[in-house]
Amino acid sequence: MTQLKTTRRSALSWLGAGASVPILAACGGNEAQARSYPVSYSEAEWRRRLSAQEFRILREEGTERPYSSPLNDESRRGTFVCAGCGNELYSSRHKYESGTGWPSFWQPISSGAVGYATDNKLIYPRREVHCADCGGHLGHVFNDGPQPTGKRHCINGVAMDFRSA
Ligand SMILES: [Zn+2]
Repeated sequence: MTQLKTTRRSALSWLGAGASVPILAACGGNEAQARSYPVSYSEAEWRRRLSAQEFRILREEGTERPYSSPLNDESRRGTFVCAGCGNELYSSRHKYESGTGWPSFWQPISSGAVGYATDNKLIYPRREVHCADCGGHLGHVFNDGPQPTGKRHCINGVAMDFRSA
């Protein structure tokens, strides 16, 4: 892991700003592979664009404290967009109260809005979910969600902005 991150960092700084940077998706152990995204910045540029907390979640795959995001309680109609690039990710129509303390959805707003990778940071592998446009880490997907999908997209509120309808 540490080694992967170092590799990614040095690759990014070497390529510099503005280049189309292949990003090691999800720092994801076995599944780690270079992917490129339509929205792509150097690490320095991401740091400039994002708050420290947003950077930690979106670019370093951090996890916010449960019940810490106001978006957990957001119940108005609207759209949740990527805090990194504005890509529309989730709709209030698919949000539900999971009781976990993180904003939870049973599906993304469209199948192309998010991408997935395997996260091997814990003993058991988890399904990582990220923004399809900028590769920013959003959270994880679990199989204990409600019907019709049975999926629970457990998303960091910091990774998203809310636009009311
Ligand atoms: Zn994004």
